Amino acid sequence: MNQNATVSIAASGDPAFACGQNDSKILLAVQDLVRHYLLPRETLFGPPPLVRALNGVSFEVPAGRSLGIVGESGSGKSTIARIVMALDKPTSGRVLLDGRDLNALPARELRAARRDFQMVFQDPYGSLDPRRTVARIVTEPLEALAGAGAGASRAARREQAAEALAAVGLRTSDLHKYPHEFSGGQRQRIAIARALITRPRLIVADEPVSALDVSVQAQVLNLMQDLQQQFGISYLLISHDLAVVNHLCDEVCVLHRGLVVERGTPQHLFAHAEHPYTQKLLAAVPRAEPGPPAPPPPGT
Ligand code: ADP
Ligand code: MG
Repeated sequence: MNQNATVSIAASGDPAFACGQNDSKILLAVQDLVRHYLLPRETLFGPPPLVRALNGVSFEVPAGRSLGIVGESGSGKSTIARIVMALDKPTSGRVLLDGRDLNALPARELRAARRDFQMVFQDPYGSLDPRRTVARIVTEPLEALAGAGAGASRAARREQAAEALAAVGLRTSDLHKYPHEFSGGQRQRIAIARALITRPRLIVADEPVSALDVSVQAQVLNLMQDLQQQFGISYLLISHDLAVVNHLCDEVCVLHRGLVVERGTPQHLFAHAEHPYTQKLLAAVPRAEPGPPAPPPPGT
């Protein structure tokens, strides 16, 4: 248990931010993340322009719970995702997964630790290699672990791939197919199976349903919810759409210009949003509560 994370929640003093104060252990603690990008100089003697993508972001995700990050394009959401996934380093601040500082791990340990956290990307078309079969795609994280000396045999990998596909509602016979043979919703199921295959404790999903039709969005979010109950996964769910995070998340952080300007349960934000930026995001949501999911149309 990370003591610092517990203290920072208690110190936040926000009654709406109740999730971290329950009995759940903190799985992910993000502490005061700053990420500034230096761009190439525009003039010979001028200073290089600085992009302040993150300006001190802190939040916690308890084990088995979901935290939403919502904000408009350019607010810093994907930068958070990359840093949490240890694909980018912060300018300052820390990412603790189960108390371990990911940036401080030696490369070999980090590769092995990747078993615990996986990612689902936005674009179900671009994020799956069109030349690879579903079997190859879904077992990619296992190949990476094999490189870290923690891999399984080929037969065992295939077995795991079949199990992961079954968990997301696809068939073993789909293992031989290629991404172009699937709809957008099915492709996102494949991407979720790829994330699931290492049995991660945390899944970071960056705009996982933004490219999908609204009815398909609800199905994918419901699937993610089912998987959470089944496997006890925690989600860091990133979206520009408050309705999407409301569907799945126990609590939400509103990100604006690289800062968390408001946080609370979805119910609290819908009823008592204080920050004008949150109110603007709320105004973009057609209904306060997303309705029950539509029955699945065939082939999604
Ligand atoms: P979001 O995902 O919320 O749309 P991003 O995290 O992608 O936002 O970007 C936040 C800000 O950081 C934007 O102004 C973006 O242009 C900038 N940014 C992101 N990545 C880089 C990079 N590698 N180099 C320079 N600027 C970047
Ligand atoms: Mg983004």
